[in-house]
Formats: sequence, structure tokens, C-alpha cells
Amino acid sequence: MSTPMGRSGIGVVRVSGAAALRICGQFLTAHPPLNHRCATNGRWQTLDGDTVDEVVVVAYHHPHSYTGEDVVEISAHGNPIILNAIITMIQAAGARIAAPGEFTLRAVAHGKMDLIQAEAVRQFIEAQTDGQARIALRQLDGELSKRIAAPKESLIGLIAHLEAGIDFAEDDVELPDAQKIADEAGGVRAALERLQQSYSYGRLLSTGARIVIVGRPNVGKSSLFNRLLAMERAIVTEIPGTTRDVLSEIADINGIPVQFYDTAGVRETTDRVEQIGVSRTLETVSEADLVVLVVDGSSDLFDDDLVIYERIRTLQHLVVANKLDIAASRDPAIEKLKPVWISARTGEGLDRLRQNIEVALGSERAEGIAGTILTSSRQNETILKAIAALLSAETALRSGTPHEMALLDLYESLSCLNELTGEITTEDILGKIFSTFCIGK
Ligand code: GDP
Repeated sequence: MSTPMGRSGIGVVRVSGAAALRICGQFLTAHPPLNHRCATNGRWQTLDGDTVDEVVVVAYHHPHSYTGEDVVEISAHGNPIILNAIITMIQAAGARIAAPGEFTLRAVAHGKMDLIQAEAVRQFIEAQTDGQARIALRQLDGELSKRIAAPKESLIGLIAHLEAGIDFAEDDVELPDAQKIADEAGGVRAALERLQQSYSYGRLLSTGARIVIVGRPNVGKSSLFNRLLAMERAIVTEIPGTTRDVLSEIADINGIPVQFYDTAGVRETTDRVEQIGVSRTLETVSEADLVVLVVDGSSDLFDDDLVIYERIRTLQHLVVANKLDIAASRDPAIEKLKPVWISARTGEGLDRLRQNIEVALGSERAEGIAGTILTSSRQNETILKAIAALLSAETALRSGTPHEMALLDLYESLSCLNELTGEITTEDILGKIFSTFCIGK
């Protein structure tokens, strides 16, 4: 089943494989039946002629389909009982339920897409923000795969050059200049390193960021939290110390799914419940990508503010001076912390704060390289291995080690790049990637 289990307008069952047309054809009363890329309206019937549903069927003949095999897509009414009946009939006729991601796996096996594109399929389906979806779509389009193609070509050229030198060494062929080859390997490495650097943004984009809001009680943390989420989530009151648990919600900041945590006010406290809240706050802070310290801009800086500031100073942080709307003057001690001035009440300064958050998360740098960025830890690890092998080849070449040794490293690097796009695969890699897919994709 390619659509979620539940009641809906239509539900789609998809069948792929050499027998797909034959299996589905026998249950379908439609003329002409199952032509390539034609939508056919007909009745889905048991072999005894009982109608199960009225359906629309689209067939894709191999190799012009998602999987590269014959594919039949049956759009029935979106009722789980009907859809299950259809699936049971198809199974009885010799098909089996697909494993998670098996349609996409078959697409890779039949050369319809490479592994990077397969990963992008999952990222696209799971995208939580526009930005994530946009990048996934571009990878699906093959942009990242293309960017790897050039360094790979160069690497193959280097290997061929060295191999020739070794093969014909006895024939008095001039040996390749080791320094020159090392330089060229360095060039390939630099290209891969630029790509690898994009992972800091890619990781942010794919896994999101955690931002924790901290500060003394009553400075306006909950109000800011609600503003950033543009919804009432946290409880706002005038009694200090009411936000005792850590609340969290996801917002979209420049395409990055950002999880905001509103925390219990940090202060010395004797209240047991509040103490628990404070210790949770400190735990949450240690795992944050960014800590936002809120101070009350309408009053002078408190010693407690500085105590918190000292705790977060070494972490990635932003200081926010709130209550700008009622701030008669600005305390120089607050100004020294270089805060972003806002009013959580009126919304003033919120846009600037969002921009500052983007910059602090490092998302700005990524403009322009969008699409050709690494977005999975698998991609990152594989590229890092390719880079390390290149570096080792360069060292070998420069130190006069026999070229055979450098060749081994270059082959290792090439095999990493092949692994990245899936020209070389192992059960392990495939298992890791496709087990995270949903069934039916
Ligand atoms: P928290 O304890 O830090 O989470 O603070 P709250 O968000 O609960 O706010 C404490 C009090 O300050 C509430 O009465 C809010 O209405 C008020 N407050 C919050 N932000 C502002 C602001 O920007 N301007 C003004 N004038 N009051 C604010």
C-alpha cells in the first residue's frame, strides 16, 4: 500500500515486478487493459466475478517506471477493508508485501537512481520544512551525484596514470612524476573537502537544531517562546517560577526545523518542584545548539543574570534584552552583553532576532551551495574516508614510497566515492539506508 492506512478519498496499491501486469490484469475488467502510462477505469473483481471496488489503474511498462520493472498502480477508494481485500487477492496470485523502501531499492538496482538519490527520496518524504524539501528535491534530481562526478573522474585519471607507470616500468617508459600526481591528488582532495564542509549546514538541515531559552524568572522567556512559535504553548503568568518543566516545540527558521525549549527560570531556589525544573534546565542547556539568554531590558542587570551568563558564555549563545516597550533607559551593564533588543509583548525586534538565530546556527553560509550539500551522516563519513585515503596517497607519493602503495590509497578513495553513489554496495549499507524507509516506497 503506497498511501497511509486509514480512510481517505483514494488509496493506492502499487505492484512491481515481471508478473505485475499478469497478476493485476486478471482481476481487472477494463479495456484496453494496462497499456503503458494510460489511466484505465474499471472494476476490480474476484476470479468469481464479484466486484470489490471500482478502480483507476495506471500501468508503467519496464524499464520506464519508478522501479525499472513493470509497475501497476491501483487507485481504489480509500477504505482499509477494500484496500486489504485487493492486496490479499494480489498476494494470493503470487505477489508478496514489499520490504521497507523496496521499490526504491529496486530502482537503485535497475539503475533508475543512485544511492544518494534514494536517500533523498526518504528525506523528501520526511521533510518537515520547505527548506528540507527543496534540498531533498535537488538531490533527487542528481545535483549532489553530479558534483561528485568530477573529482571521481580526476581520481580515475590519476590511477590510470600510475598504473601505466607500474605496468610499463620495465619497458623504459618514463615514470610519472610523483610530485605532480601528489599535487593533483591534493586538488581532488580540496574539492571533496569543500563538499564535506557543507555537512555542518546539511546536518543542521536534516536533523534540525535545538535552541534553549534561559533566564531569570519573569524576564519574558515564555512570552518569547510563544512569539517564536507564533502560538500559545507555554503558560504565561506574573508569578515568578511558574514554568517548571521544560516545554518544547518545533518552528521553521530559514528551512531548519528548530526545536525550542522553554525552561524553568534559573535561580537559587528552595522550592523542591522548582529545583527539579532548574536542574532540567541545566541538562537541556548542555545539549543545545544555541542558548538564548533573556534578560529584562526594562530594569538593570541582576547578579543572577550574570551568574547564568557565566554558565553559558562558553556555549554558542545569544543574549536578548526583552521588554523594550517599557524600557525607559538601557542599562550599560546589559549593553555590554551585546544583546538583541526585543519586546515579546509587541513583537518589535523579533525579525532581527530570527536573523541573529540563523547566523548563530550557521545557516547563512549555505546559500548558493544548496542542493550540493551533504545531508546524511553516511555521506559525510564516506567522504571523510575518501579524503583520508587521498591524504595518505599524497604523503606516500611525496615521500618516495613505491607507487604501488599510493595506488592502494587512491583505490581506497575511489571505492569510497563509489560507495557514496552506490556503484559499490554492501548488504550493510543497503540495510542501513532502506530499513529507515516506509513500506510502499
Ligand atoms: P518567564 O518567567 O521568563 O517565562 O516570563 P513570562 O513570559 O511568563 O513573562 C513574565 C511577565 O512579563 C508577564 O507578565 C508578561 O506579560 C511580561 N512580559 C513579557 N514580555 C514582555 C515585554 O516584552 N514587555 C512587557 N511590557 N512585558 C512583558
